[in-house]
Amino acid sequence: MTESQLREEICEIGRRMYQRQFCAANEGNISVRLDEERVLCTPTLRCKGFLNPADLCVVDLAGNQLAGELQKTSEILLHLQIYRQRQDIIGVVHCHPPHVTAFAITGEPIPMGLLPEPEVFLGEVPTAPYVLPGTQAFADSILPFVQKTNAIVLANHGVVSYASGLERAYWLTEILDSYCRILINSRALGVPKYFDGTQMRELLDLKERWGFADPRTTSKCPDDQLGNYPTFRSDWAASNVSPNAFKKP
Ligand SMILES: [Zn+2]
Repeated sequence: MTESQLREEICEIGRRMYQRQFCAANEGNISVRLDEERVLCTPTLRCKGFLNPADLCVVDLAGNQLAGELQKTSEILLHLQIYRQRQDIIGVVHCHPPHVTAFAITGEPIPMGLLPEPEVFLGEVPTAPYVLPGTQAFADSILPFVQKTNAIVLANHGVVSYASGLERAYWLTEILDSYCRILINSRALGVPKYFDGTQMRELLDLKERWGFADPRTTSKCPDDQLGNYPTFRSDWAASNVSPNAFKKP
């Protein structure tokens, strides 16, 4: 894609994010890797639903602004951390979708083993500890997780997702918020019924055939533990997370 197409794509993803109420007012930020040294990102204090291609900023991997009339997003350090850690990543989306963020503020880990799509497209989604937004420490809070997943819940804040293309990065947030909305609805109706080990293994085999990496596949996790948070459970204490609404029987 040319830079001008990537500028259009960021504006389009901004419109979708705003229409789905993933970012109120001027919240949220989006970026795309232009080449080995430059990243295109949204400006600070602008509504993502009404961006023009000329509003975007270009920064280097140290966060210095190279081009753009408006000032770069205050969360650029988070985006740059992801591009530095993951050479395969082209697009990053950060926002505060209401259903995922409800899990983020209650310290409820994203439950597993309930629907096929989240297992295949998201896998186990970790929660990074709360850190003051906009700081280098905040950008560093994702370090324990960034290699093993493409979507991270940010405690008491929101979510960040990233992928080999910007639209794919955005899809992960959309899938996660849709899943969390279903989870919240399910609580009003009754008790969720979890997949068993055989059903989980079946889904992971399908995921492998479709070419999606999942740490649970390579770790040779026993079938009956696949839905029991095998990858990130050990990080829960540091992130102040524990299951309550979706505590497994
Ligand atoms: Zn934020």
